[in-house]
Amino acid sequence: MKVAIMGAGIGGLALAQGLRKAGTEVAVYERDPSPQYRKQGYRIHISPVGEEALAAMLPAAVRRRVIATATHAGDLVAGFDAQLNEQFQQVFPVAGPDAVTSVDRYAFRRALMTGLDDVLRFGKQFTSYAETADGVEISFADGTSATADVLVGADGVGSGVRRQLVPELEVTDIGVRCIYGKVPLTDAVRKVAPAAFLRGFCFASDGAGLGTAFGPVMFREPPAEYGDYLMAVLTGTNAVLGASDEELFAMHPADLWAIVTRSVAEWHPAIRALIAAGEPAAAFPITLRTCVTVPTWTSSRVTMLGDAVHPMTPAAGAGANTALWDSARLTRALTSGEDLATYQQDVVANGQQIVTESLHNAERLFNVSIPV
Ligand SMILES: Cc1cc2nc3c(=O)[nH]c(=O)nc-3n(C[C@H](O)[C@H](O)[C@H](O)COP(=O)(O)OP(=O)(O)OC[C@H]3O[C@@H](n4cnc5c(N)ncnc54)[C@H](O)[C@@H]3O)c2cc1C
Repeated sequence: MKVAIMGAGIGGLALAQGLRKAGTEVAVYERDPSPQYRKQGYRIHISPVGEEALAAMLPAAVRRRVIATATHAGDLVAGFDAQLNEQFQQVFPVAGPDAVTSVDRYAFRRALMTGLDDVLRFGKQFTSYAETADGVEISFADGTSATADVLVGADGVGSGVRRQLVPELEVTDIGVRCIYGKVPLTDAVRKVAPAAFLRGFCFASDGAGLGTAFGPVMFREPPAEYGDYLMAVLTGTNAVLGASDEELFAMHPADLWAIVTRSVAEWHPAIRALIAAGEPAAAFPITLRTCVTVPTWTSSRVTMLGDAVHPMTPAAGAGANTALWDSARLTRALTSGEDLATYQQDVVANGQQIVTESLHNAERLFNVSIPV
């Protein structure tokens, strides 16, 4: 059997590793021209669900790369107001040296690409598929095509595979925009950063719709391109951020960072100092989107995983972990000859539960009401 995977994101790469380990032929097609292309987000929390899925799928050498390039484990999640008065704190036992509790997205994807050079094709943007009597024919934007026995849409929130398979699915914009950025962890920044910000994920809010989040990325083994940093995120509606989407998504990164600086101008001095030490060129905006009802579909040869099936807000910290869960489940289905309909049932049921939790968290965290 030959499996074609659209998208070399977190779920698609993990699936490719799982299938290859079991001896199944795979090809991964990614629209980006290279792994470095485009700012794709910074810190990702890996839960025990994600870790278990990785352990099930990855060959030993790839798992070692993932562990080596992960961050040192944190032991805290905390919330504050804008003046850094603590609102809540949860402390966890420190995880062992081989635990993967958070990763840098780029370093993680590079580790997941280990050993896939011969099956990973960049610059291949999926456009459509056609099911034939004995397989699936896949077309790309560059005019080329490929064939496979099974096609997996692992092409993320804007999935082209889903557009064709479930054209009726609506992805809801929850009205919240984020400006993501990085504060390099220099000695000066380590001195000024509140201790909690260096221990784990921290959220601070002004109670009027403006929020900031900080998460340390302290590598066990940093990538060649950069070192330790603090992920910094500003969240709010367009009105709160004072910029329309047309303005926000056309802005130079330095102007985006100027919005972050302006937004925290009255906040605690430590937060202002961190933002002042940020790397303006690293800033980029994103829209938070979700599905409300996870879709179902009918095909014995085309299936999906991850954000393609169940786009969700980051408010449950679960999108990547659920994509990994899906990949592990699909690896089992494809390597045991199981019916893809059974895989779909499990993925939809599991995904729906997490999408609903993420919707509730997003309403609380971002102070918005999501039309359902
Ligand atoms: C800012 C941010 C922070 C997040 N933090 C967390 C977190 O802490 N924990 C967590 O669990 N989740 C987190 N998430 C969610 C998580 O990133 C996603 O849920 C996860 O990446 C989904 O994995 P995926 O493989 O389904 O899709 P993706 O990782 O998005 O990969 C999709 C891939 O498909 C490619 N692609 C798209 N269209 C095409 C096409 N037409 N043809 C070919 N290739 C295509 C894309 O370029 C991409 O490489 C966060 C998300 C964001 C935006």
